[in-house]
Amino acid sequence: MTNITLTTPVRDLSGVSPALAGLLDALGLTNLGRLVAHIPLRHEVLEAETTIDKLVPGQIVSARGEVTATRPVGVGKRARFEAVVCDHTGRLDLVWFNAPYMTRRLHPGMRVRVQGALRTRGPGVQIANPSITILSDDEPPALERLVRPVYPASLDLSSAALGRTIRKALPLALPLIEDHLPAEFRAARALPELRQAYRMLHEPAHEAEAGEAIRRLAYDELLLLQLGVHVKRAHLRQAQRAPALRWNDQVDRHIRERFPFALTAAQDRAVREIAGDLSKPTPANRLIQGDVGSGKTAVALYAMLMAVASQKQASLMAPTELLAEQHYASISRTLAGTRVRVALLTGATPGAERAATLAALATGGIDILIGTHALLTEDVRCACLAVAVIDEQHRFGVAQRARLRAQASDDASTPHVLVMTATPIPRTLAITLFGDLDISTIDALPPGRSPVGTRAVSSDQRVEVYDEVASRISRGEQAFVVVPAIGPGEAGADGQPLRDVRSTLEELGTHWLAGHRLAALHGQLARDTRDAVMERFRLGQVHAVVATTVVEVGIDVPNATVMVVEQADRFGLAQLHQLRGRVGRGSKPGVCYLIADPRTPDAQERLRALESTTDGFVLAEKDLEIRGPGEMFGTRQSGLPPFRVADLARDRELLNMARRDAAAWIGRSPLLAASEEALLRRRLMKTYGDALGLVDVG
Ligand code: ADP
Ligand code: MG
Repeated sequence: MTNITLTTPVRDLSGVSPALAGLLDALGLTNLGRLVAHIPLRHEVLEAETTIDKLVPGQIVSARGEVTATRPVGVGKRARFEAVVCDHTGRLDLVWFNAPYMTRRLHPGMRVRVQGALRTRGPGVQIANPSITILSDDEPPALERLVRPVYPASLDLSSAALGRTIRKALPLALPLIEDHLPAEFRAARALPELRQAYRMLHEPAHEAEAGEAIRRLAYDELLLLQLGVHVKRAHLRQAQRAPALRWNDQVDRHIRERFPFALTAAQDRAVREIAGDLSKPTPANRLIQGDVGSGKTAVALYAMLMAVASQKQASLMAPTELLAEQHYASISRTLAGTRVRVALLTGATPGAERAATLAALATGGIDILIGTHALLTEDVRCACLAVAVIDEQHRFGVAQRARLRAQASDDASTPHVLVMTATPIPRTLAITLFGDLDISTIDALPPGRSPVGTRAVSSDQRVEVYDEVASRISRGEQAFVVVPAIGPGEAGADGQPLRDVRSTLEELGTHWLAGHRLAALHGQLARDTRDAVMERFRLGQVHAVVATTVVEVGIDVPNATVMVVEQADRFGLAQLHQLRGRVGRGSKPGVCYLIADPRTPDAQERLRALESTTDGFVLAEKDLEIRGPGEMFGTRQSGLPPFRVADLARDRELLNMARRDAAAWIGRSPLLAASEEALLRRRLMKTYGDALGLVDVG
């Protein structure tokens, strides 16, 4: 082969048999470039090998030899697997606990390399739970300590075989790898050259090199995403106009007069930031985040009334019908006696009413439209939509926001978009996932709000918990009981049975809360039934609702002071925090009991975190630490491709650096149009072009 490029198929590389090429193909490693870009799962340290007689007890040691005997010992929890490995100098005993698969993996006659902590055992030496590599004939002994990548491999292609193939391909590939970052830029950040990074990734001389390689590649991923987000934003700013809304003392006074309370300092700050945005002719794109009960709705309403004051329209979109109706009711109450026309539009709005609302909307006969995602259907056209508010961002993606923008009938203008979320997003994630948004944070609760006390208790304390619930109900207060399942017979991911609404309702009704009025609330109930239950709960006719997490978001019943969450370890930290925000919304202090017998340290830690703080942001950071970002707000959910190398929990510093760098870069070169930026731009488009909708920019 004379002309090798990064797109040369692996089957054309010398030394790659058709069989091997087939296995590589199956892993998606179809060409030279992809082969070399295969990211190891981790790096492992191989200690230098010595003969068995030179091994020192108390150290991590490594040796190779032949398996001379194996045997399983005992059964059940105490089962173990023993093996003996010998070389010409002596004998080494191995033992595995809880590893039934070893019976199938290891057999006498095999040549192996073992590594682990050596201890003396009777007259001999032993390693417990060693790591073990079954050797092929040609594998040379590791004479010095070395670091080796461990690759995601397949059943037929081991990590070691893959490693050999990649290392053989490196000399061909490396010279072809071009760096998209300028040398001075890299030097200032102590980032290795890309070529060098790939070499260190696959063939690190020592641990530090592996770390350096990962750092460079993770930085690249983060930088590209941040650049993408900034390019998009710069483009939006250049290409799109939004109505500049009027904002002066008179408007401000008029709007504030509508509220039965003075805005808190935190609300005031958010209002100023938002009003500043809305009075400019560039479309605002802002996230309003604030803990449950912090009063985000008032802030959003302020923004919507700014639109009305400029003879324009506003919309508010909620994630559920229940919430949309609740917003509609409370906003209608706040605006009673004014000329502001408010309408509700959900999937349940009857056809005739819907048609009338749409017509009024299109001719400017409605000022504020409240609804669910039904607002996003094609036929909803506004005469002059100036402000679009989305409640609970994490259920609306980037794509929906784009749809909203398209809704303003006037093509020359797009609405300001505000996104409210009550699930505090750790800064790290907000930057990554919503990097195209500005952020306002409402970080304090309105006065007179008593924080919810939280107590994690074990299931044998259920009696005391429900005693307390009963006595609160007797004092005229109300309760939520939250369980993970709706009907009996459901099991969790681990196969354990889940508590359900129906059986719990029956149990509480016949025992602990007998004589009080209880009702069920869950997603399988007809909407009318659900609304009726909520209404009766609000009116105090129902004393306790037994519910699934449908009560998670937004339900506002000030007289509800106690919540019990059964099998609380089944819920995420953020979710539990949301849930407990449902109580203590009035003047009486709220309490939340988390009943659980957590089986994992993580679950324990989550419950302890909830007991120790009521600050949603502290909890969100904690959750990120415990569970990792994937589970919290997977990039999957954000519609972005997953990171291959970067890890948001580990790479926070790197993320901040990438964010600063991207902002500065785009400040200098908004569309990355310079010729020396061509490679960077190409890689950006390839990685995030589709996800971020950058095609029109490219
Ligand atoms: P959330 O941020 O959870 O959406 P809401 O906007 O629903 O919070 O507000 C929670 C409650 O606090 C509502 O009953 C609202 O009327 C009240 N509230 C909001 N702002 C204030 C304030 N500045 N002073 C007193 N009460 C307020
Ligand atoms: Mg709300």
